[in-house]
Amino acid sequence: MAVDLHLHSTFSDGSNTPTEIVEQAVAIGLTGIALTDHDTLAGTPEAAAAAAAHKLRFIGGTELSVEWKDQSMHMLVYFLDPNGGPLEDRMEELRTSRHERNLQIAAKLQQLGLEIAIEEVQAESGGGVIGRPHFAGVMIRKGYVENVPEAFDRYLAAGRPAYTPRKRLTAEEAITLGRASRAVSVIAHPHTLNLNADEFGQGFRELVSLGLGGIEAYYGEYTPAMRSRIVEICDGLGIVATGGSDYHGAYKPHLSIGTGKGDLRVPDHVFGLLEESR
Ligand code: AMP
Ligand code: FE
Ligand code: FE
Ligand code: ZN
Repeated sequence: MAVDLHLHSTFSDGSNTPTEIVEQAVAIGLTGIALTDHDTLAGTPEAAAAAAAHKLRFIGGTELSVEWKDQSMHMLVYFLDPNGGPLEDRMEELRTSRHERNLQIAAKLQQLGLEIAIEEVQAESGGGVIGRPHFAGVMIRKGYVENVPEAFDRYLAAGRPAYTPRKRLTAEEAITLGRASRAVSVIAHPHTLNLNADEFGQGFRELVSLGLGGIEAYYGEYTPAMRSRIVEICDGLGIVATGGSDYHGAYKPHLSIGTGKGDLRVPDHVFGLLEESR
């Protein structure tokens, strides 16, 4: 029995609809999922309805890029209400800043000689929140790059010529506003932080005191030893060890719902622990 608490749909930079994701989750026998599209809750109603129809447990949430000690941290926030709330209402600013950033990325790519119009990127996104993977999709179609990682390495990643920052909440704001929304914030894929795994326990203590609810421990990039190590750290901090595939459909073709690169399995008791930590 397993769950998957990190999934992206067509409402952000995934290529499957929430309904398709629910159907796939049911087909492989998952008992619960969370939808975590970047900066939006717009896919929540569709996913919740599809999940209810299949008796699949469901959590609506998001993945935010937040600032923590001059680093970019990804924060999964679970149990957010698409009708609004203290954190939910701040997400509008994030989408506006993302839109302005997207216009700047398009302008920079044009200056670099790539003929990419924002309208093409909008078409690629299918109307959802636009992210850099959609730029990568257009770049691939037009023959400028071979694949998504190449688009990031050459143009889109931090430090590359089309990179443009956007507004972020701090980790502290996301956690505090999240608690005010009766939501639970969880640090996503902590290996992307410039912090040794042995430092997680001490490093995150301050965030735990503000209400941090968990750390993503079951993640495809981790060895079994690292997953166990993060579970131990979470136990020591008294927070929940969560996990998920970070499925993005065609934008990350090596990842599958539920199983990640093939060996992922997020135990289903995590779902209940997360509910209890609200
Ligand atoms: P954005 O939301 O526009 O800032 O884009 C961030 C998204 O791009 C992440 O959620 C990933 O899906 C993807 N991404 C970030 N870095 C890379 C990379 N180096 N290679 C492939 N995809 C990436
Ligand atoms: Fe993404
Ligand atoms: Fe992420
Ligand atoms: Zn993600």
